[in-house]
Amino acid sequence: MERHHITALCMLIVIAVVCTLAGREFLKMYEPDEIIPGPGVTKVDNLSSYSGDLAGTISDTKVYVLDSGKPGATALVLGGTHPNEPAGFMTAVVLTEHAFVREGRVIVIPQVCSSGFTCTDPLEGYPQSYSIQTKSKIRSFRFGARGSNPLTEWPDPLVFLQYPSGQQLSGNEVRNLNRSYPGRPDGTVTERVAYAVMQLIERENVDIAFDLHEAAPEIPIINAIVTHEKGKDAAASALFTLESENLQFALEMSPPNFHGLSHREWGDRSAVFPYLMETSNPIQGRLRGVTNEALVVQGIDRKYFEAAQIGSMRITYDLEGEPLARRVGRHLRGLQALLGAYMESTPEKRIVVDSVPEYEEILARGLGDFLH
Ligand SMILES: [Zn+2]
Repeated sequence: MERHHITALCMLIVIAVVCTLAGREFLKMYEPDEIIPGPGVTKVDNLSSYSGDLAGTISDTKVYVLDSGKPGATALVLGGTHPNEPAGFMTAVVLTEHAFVREGRVIVIPQVCSSGFTCTDPLEGYPQSYSIQTKSKIRSFRFGARGSNPLTEWPDPLVFLQYPSGQQLSGNEVRNLNRSYPGRPDGTVTERVAYAVMQLIERENVDIAFDLHEAAPEIPIINAIVTHEKGKDAAASALFTLESENLQFALEMSPPNFHGLSHREWGDRSAVFPYLMETSNPIQGRLRGVTNEALVVQGIDRKYFEAAQIGSMRITYDLEGEPLARRVGRHLRGLQALLGAYMESTPEKRIVVDSVPEYEEILARGLGDFLH
């Protein structure tokens, strides 16, 4: 064997080793996150129960029902509409593992855009996962992409024509669940997931629904509650409650002509009161520096601190950052305040959720204390 053959052989071996290791990392994203139903969960179902052809695909996802057995309102909580926004997902996990419903019923879908948890967005340098220390062990959760996995409906069109409005959006928004409502049973995979959620809202007679999100600290709609016009009185009442607890939320109205969004289409097409909540997530921001697991969990980024110092931020940002525990605490407290306000406006439909950590409690004890 000549010398250049030996060199080529060595290079092939190195490439094979690198590809094998990278492939193993890539395939790890297909291993489902462990979510451990708590004592409040009375039934575990699949989203495919509401749109059959999702069954057996990476777009099907678990639906956890917490039913008090007492009459009252039904609430729906969606986490993971955008799998790169971990506070929405983790809030749904805390509810699934820790909450107990005393009156009415709560339906939780922690990973509604399930296929988006099997990949990350290209060119962002996102970590594949992050870890949280609980009382008993270290648990790892996947950090996903903004939309559905491109492999589920490749290729993206150049222009996405939103159904049924015909509104034109950039091509990659075709995989954005929060542009795909009301969806359709024979549409793209993302539209079929949206259709299944709409079917669930109808069939389960959902009264109030939450879509939990995060956004970059520099965007205008941050630390906010977005409401459909029919839910604005309850939202305003919840805001007063939250203000009295020193928790500032901006109230944003759902734009009537911006189609495909949960707070618009759920509200227009069903009896539900829809709310979308946003927390501030530095890892999504354009100013961020080192992009790693610590930024997901601790939310500390020096560049955002500097931006806040020169008055370029709409929210306060100090050296404590925006830790995941605080973001989950805000979502949980916002959700409880909205449920309380909803009950005030419709006293005949009660919904009482216990064992939800208070904002200060989750800050003091940490997120892991409320997970198995
Ligand atoms: Zn989002």
